[in-house]
Amino acid sequence: MAQVQSNIMQEQNTDNEQFTQATDLPQGTPQGQQMTQPYSTPAQTSSTQNNSDQNSNAQASQHSHYPPRFNPRDDINNPHTLETDGLEETHFGYKKVKKAEKQARVADVFTSVAKKYDIMNDLMSFGIHRLWKRYAISLSGVRAGQHVLDIAGGTGDLAKVFSREVGRSGHVVLSDINEAMLEVGRERLLNAGCNNVDFVLANAETLAPFEDNSFDLLTISFGLRNVTDKDAALRSMYRVLKPGGRLLVLEFSKPIFEPLSKAYDIYSFTALPVMGKLVAGDSESYQYLAESIRMHPNQQTLKQMMENAGFENCDYHNLTAGIVAVHRGFKK
Ligand code: SAM
Repeated sequence: MAQVQSNIMQEQNTDNEQFTQATDLPQGTPQGQQMTQPYSTPAQTSSTQNNSDQNSNAQASQHSHYPPRFNPRDDINNPHTLETDGLEETHFGYKKVKKAEKQARVADVFTSVAKKYDIMNDLMSFGIHRLWKRYAISLSGVRAGQHVLDIAGGTGDLAKVFSREVGRSGHVVLSDINEAMLEVGRERLLNAGCNNVDFVLANAETLAPFEDNSFDLLTISFGLRNVTDKDAALRSMYRVLKPGGRLLVLEFSKPIFEPLSKAYDIYSFTALPVMGKLVAGDSESYQYLAESIRMHPNQQTLKQMMENAGFENCDYHNLTAGIVAVHRGFKK
């Protein structure tokens, strides 16, 4: 795993030069297209146009070429700097790091594992992550014609299914903060023929490219624990969700069966880093995975955080004895 420079002042002075690939592009210049406006779903775009061929024009202006590259990416700058947060600390796995430093460290993890991410998921979970995701999708209530945002969507497991479920009249956005992960997802979904999906680099904490009240369904799967300010992320999710819409958070949680918990700890802290080393050439990232799971809020705490952000009728469903939980909340 690439080392993050500890000198944060230097990071700021060099305009984030040490940050990973996602920030190597000129600021505000999305690849493949010159769009700097906030991202709008096709429905929003078309409603602001008034001639009769508005729908096709809206789509064409969203994608001046096909296949689409990434959409506006103006919010992946780190919202946490020494100016905003001073020396305040947060967790990066078990380590305490400056808030200003965490985003770059997380970026290093996912840039390092992106190409092997899917195979590692299958190996580490014995394929069970597919069942967890399927269960989350079954709670989504997704319907044809809806607008869906998959946040921290990475390689696109959920977005791929939603693309099929919302159909041609619907629309899916696969968003992630990390260009390497999103690139894997983009290639995979385009190869699968998903032509109602846009790919947007965005920080879950701000979701800056997205307008208020613009999605029927939001999902974040195994993403929230990586976010520096989870409360801010939940507030942003509430902002972009339409009234009547729902949020699903699929995330590792606290096992509710003690003997399983012990075996799971042994597995996580011994087998995962070894597998990471052998398959992805990176044990540290998988050590972080194990640690970040332990540092993530438990079921009740996350439910309370969702309520604090404004979500109503929040509940959660434990999967595999609480190793994972799906939280659900609604915007009234
Ligand atoms: N959702 C996918 C899945 O379930 O397979 C990918 C999950 S992967 C474990 C976590 C993802 O969260 C990575 O793609 C990472 O880049 C993304 N991520 C981390 N911090 C983020 C942030 N602040 N905003 C958006 N995405 C973030």
